[in-house]
Amino acid sequence: MSLLEINSFAAGHWIAPGPGAREIENAVTGAVMARAGNDTLDVAAMLAHARDVGGPGLRAMTFHDRARMLKALATHLGQHKQALYDLSFATGATQADHLIDIDGGIGTMFVFASKGRREMPDGHVYLDGEVEQLSRGGTFLGQHVCTPMRGVAVHINAFNFPVWGMLEKLAPTLLAGVPAIVKPATATCYVTELAVRTMIDSGILPAGALQLVTGGLGDMLDHLTSQDVVSFTGSAETALKLRSAPHLLKNSIRFVAEQDSLNASILGPDAVPGTPEFDLFVKEVQREMTTKAGQKCTAIRRILAPQSQVDAVIAALSKRLAQTVIGDPQAEATRMGALVSGSQKRDVLEKAAIIGSEAERVYGNPDAFEVAGADASKGAFLPPMLFHCADPDGANRIHDTEAFGPVSTIMGYRDLDHATQLVNRGEGSLVASVITGDSDVARQIVLGAGAFHGRLYFNNRDSMGESTGHGSPLPHMVHGGPGRAGGGEELGGVRGVMHYMQRTAVQGSPDILTAIGQTWVPGGTETEAPAHPFTRTFHEVQIGETIHTAPRQVTLDDIEHFAHFTGDTFYAHMDDAAAKRNPFFPGRVAHGYLLLSFAAGLFVEPNEGPVLANTGLDNLRFMKPVEAGDSIKVRLTVKKKTPRNDEYGEVRWHVTLTNQDNDTVAEYELLTMNAFSR
Ligand code: NAP
Repeated sequence: MSLLEINSFAAGHWIAPGPGAREIENAVTGAVMARAGNDTLDVAAMLAHARDVGGPGLRAMTFHDRARMLKALATHLGQHKQALYDLSFATGATQADHLIDIDGGIGTMFVFASKGRREMPDGHVYLDGEVEQLSRGGTFLGQHVCTPMRGVAVHINAFNFPVWGMLEKLAPTLLAGVPAIVKPATATCYVTELAVRTMIDSGILPAGALQLVTGGLGDMLDHLTSQDVVSFTGSAETALKLRSAPHLLKNSIRFVAEQDSLNASILGPDAVPGTPEFDLFVKEVQREMTTKAGQKCTAIRRILAPQSQVDAVIAALSKRLAQTVIGDPQAEATRMGALVSGSQKRDVLEKAAIIGSEAERVYGNPDAFEVAGADASKGAFLPPMLFHCADPDGANRIHDTEAFGPVSTIMGYRDLDHATQLVNRGEGSLVASVITGDSDVARQIVLGAGAFHGRLYFNNRDSMGESTGHGSPLPHMVHGGPGRAGGGEELGGVRGVMHYMQRTAVQGSPDILTAIGQTWVPGGTETEAPAHPFTRTFHEVQIGETIHTAPRQVTLDDIEHFAHFTGDTFYAHMDDAAAKRNPFFPGRVAHGYLLLSFAAGLFVEPNEGPVLANTGLDNLRFMKPVEAGDSIKVRLTVKKKTPRNDEYGEVRWHVTLTNQDNDTVAEYELLTMNAFSR
């Protein structure tokens, strides 16, 4: 069979393998199936193309434009995923593994598409946090803003997730407005190449937004500038080599690292055999050991159980592992496929031998195991291997050796403090899980171990029906960890986008900040609307447009009526003496909700018009009590506009209620949906 030629995509052209190309083997048959890499690739031209063409094209789009682009890309990939599945079997992955890699990657892109529309503005500047008051009179304020880096993101990925690994970095990068050059690990780059080709062929991406290097990166990293970002996933060894390059250090080039980690799972003291938690623990550990043949950065490498339960866990886990059918990843019955390559298999065996110097192998023999439907002597197959370490305090290598395959070590703990000490001996991990129904145990673990782990995953009978699994990084939650795990952080919703943006502290007057953020800042110019703003369409109302209402007096009858009508007869509204005893009130006061209702009565335009609905209030504060006899008036200002679909968008109004002395009595933001047309 002829070899697949795995191309790079450089400056708008597909470049075939050339000098220096490397051979890639099929994980299942061991046969060479493809080649990739070309030492003559013009990496400087690729960087220039990204900076000069990709960056400007992406930055011309708003966050919402880019979010829509992500949604279109994810949809397109979803329509073409069968071809990705078909190709991915050669990496040793099963169909269940594809769901994590391919569907998981597409799903991640969808989440960023949706978060981009819901949590980011339809503009070019992202506001980070609230306006800071820097002056007494409010004429000089501060605001943190984020704008896209002006360079390129170089993504260097590990071999185990050729699609998810790319998309989980690409989605936040493109949403930020930064072009990417993706360099997948050579062993599985043929799957990434097909995914990139599918995206490029869709025509959805602007020119220069995405390029691909298969094979070596050449000297690309030496051409980076302080406006570029390197986002790396792989081994600690490679991370150290790359991040310590003098050029990167000298130019303070951002380096986000996700590297190997010795993730652990703890069986809670309450989760004894016979409980749903015990069964859940065994199931999760077995799944984490065998999914992707254990080649998962989040896989459980260390299993911690109360000393008295170690034998029970070994017995139950061994029973489950024995049911794991190993073999041809395409066969439906197969539960665990092959490792990615012969060299990876050798590496895992070497690491298992190191672990074996401190622990006894209690399940799985790499020299004697069944492989169904494939030639075990040719493919990179291994059985799941469980080790037991009787002296986890005296041991070292079980806490620092990552066998990147189906290998895990069980150890006993004396009490929760001991469990915490042991789990932290990984010196920083991506995730630790605790299977417990005891909330106090969970709290103790968070206090004792939180600082060592990027994610803590608790599961028990209440959550197991819907839980997502120890090993699944979710786009909503941060993925990364301290220390050994690389000290980096990815995903986590909009947090993940910030790795590709610069946060800048902007200081200036309210009008300056309003113009920069396209969000009205109190103290900024208030423009008079030509008509009541509720009669104006989404596009007609302008930021800063303001109306001031007439005053309305609040009477004792109003308070009484409201109290009896709503049932809210709280003493502060009904009993003058009791209210006076309260440090907050001068006597009977109006209900806050009465004031809100009166405010609406003052500012609404009652006729049918472009305002479709009131969808909520944010940041409501009652600042000063209102007594019978006081009068209130309202200032309503358009603060921000966010399109939601083709028909309407959200208008955020800044609302201030003042009394007859111009003291602010309440302040909030009102949200309405406004139609694009009348
Ligand atoms: P690796 O050998 O460190 O390779 C990672 C990436 O770095 C590959 O794309 C590799 O390309 C590239 N690379 C290696 N040397 C380079 C150099 N001098 N210049 C530029 N790029 C270079 O790791 P791996 O074997 O692919 O992946 C397994 C490791 O990744 C495990 O330790 C695992 O724990 C870790 N991992 C971590 C996460 C996470 O999210 N934290 C996720 C997955 C995997 P080539 O393939 O072309 O050499």
